[in-house]
Amino acid sequence: MNAPHENSRLSLVFTPEHLGEALSLYARNPGAILYAGGTALLSKQSERLPIFGAPLISLKRVEELKTIRRYENFIEFGAAVTLGDILRCKESRFLPPVFKTAVRAVGTPAVRNTATIGGHLAVTERKLLLLPILLILDAAVEVKSQTTTRSGEIKRFLDEKNGFILQANEIITKIRIPTGRFNLWGFSALPGSVIRSQDFFMSCFVARKNRFLIEKINFAFNIDGRLVIRIKQSEDRLIGKKFPLSAAEIREEMRFFTSKIEGELIAPSPYKKERIINAFRLILTQDLTKSGLIE
Ligand SMILES: Cc1cc2nc3c(=O)[nH]c(=O)nc-3n(C[C@H](O)[C@H](O)[C@H](O)COP(=O)(O)OP(=O)(O)OC[C@H]3O[C@@H](n4cnc5c(N)ncnc54)[C@H](O)[C@@H]3O)c2cc1C
Repeated sequence: MNAPHENSRLSLVFTPEHLGEALSLYARNPGAILYAGGTALLSKQSERLPIFGAPLISLKRVEELKTIRRYENFIEFGAAVTLGDILRCKESRFLPPVFKTAVRAVGTPAVRNTATIGGHLAVTERKLLLLPILLILDAAVEVKSQTTTRSGEIKRFLDEKNGFILQANEIITKIRIPTGRFNLWGFSALPGSVIRSQDFFMSCFVARKNRFLIEKINFAFNIDGRLVIRIKQSEDRLIGKKFPLSAAEIREEMRFFTSKIEGELIAPSPYKKERIINAFRLILTQDLTKSGLIE
């Protein structure tokens, strides 16, 4: 194990090379901060020299967190793989286009070359761009502590507001992106960063269509980086429907969706509500015979 050394403002920095070491260090230093790409951690710092006030456990050299593997039905990324490496790796051609499009929309190349997929999920202050995408793709996550391993679909790790929840001393270790499940997709985000802008809106969907029938459709919205909304009942109602929908069916689905948005959500502003409703109408009415961006 590497000896800790001091950074500029007296935080101990541990640089484990193996996952076992990282987990054991985290168990022995419960207040420590995991440091992956550091983009979110450093963006909270206002001084020229960062002050963390707690030991840091750097994940940058942990081999097991940097692997990329392709399996028959999914691609598995170690949590410390950067967004840039996700786009560049040879396995990327098998990734769902909606995922790659969303990864490309995160920040700048410099941010993507530093930010990691695990760090992106673990940020709690804002709901970032890839969270709803991973949700609609039914991506799976593995998290470990020194004594436990939990894994499963990402929705199992989210609270009722779709925030990612980690237990004490858990590290996100793997993210698995299913491949080949959907043949239609759409992604639309307002220009501007979910990080910097208070007025952010993103909508995304994936669907599997067999001839005219929708076999599965998932959609989600990110509002201002505060709310990730998914109306599961609306998704279920569309399964087995023939697309394009008739005008009466569209009216009926709009009515149902609007009542859910009105009734179940702690309302965003009327203007934001209108945006969600319009985005849903676009999903329903656009030509679902081809995939691509929702304009
Ligand atoms: C200039 C700039 C522009 C940006 N633009 C966008 C944008 O357009 N869209 C968008 O969605 N985001 C944007 N971001 C946010 C960016 O996506 C996140 O900062 C980044 O994904 C976090 O990853 P990281 O590896 O740098 O995390 P870090 O900063 O290292 O860590 C973030 C948090 O996650 C924890 N953590 C890290 N790894 C793990 C792990 N494996 N297990 C458990 N906890 C962990 C850390 O302790 C910390 O609390 C931007 C950021 C910057 C600085």
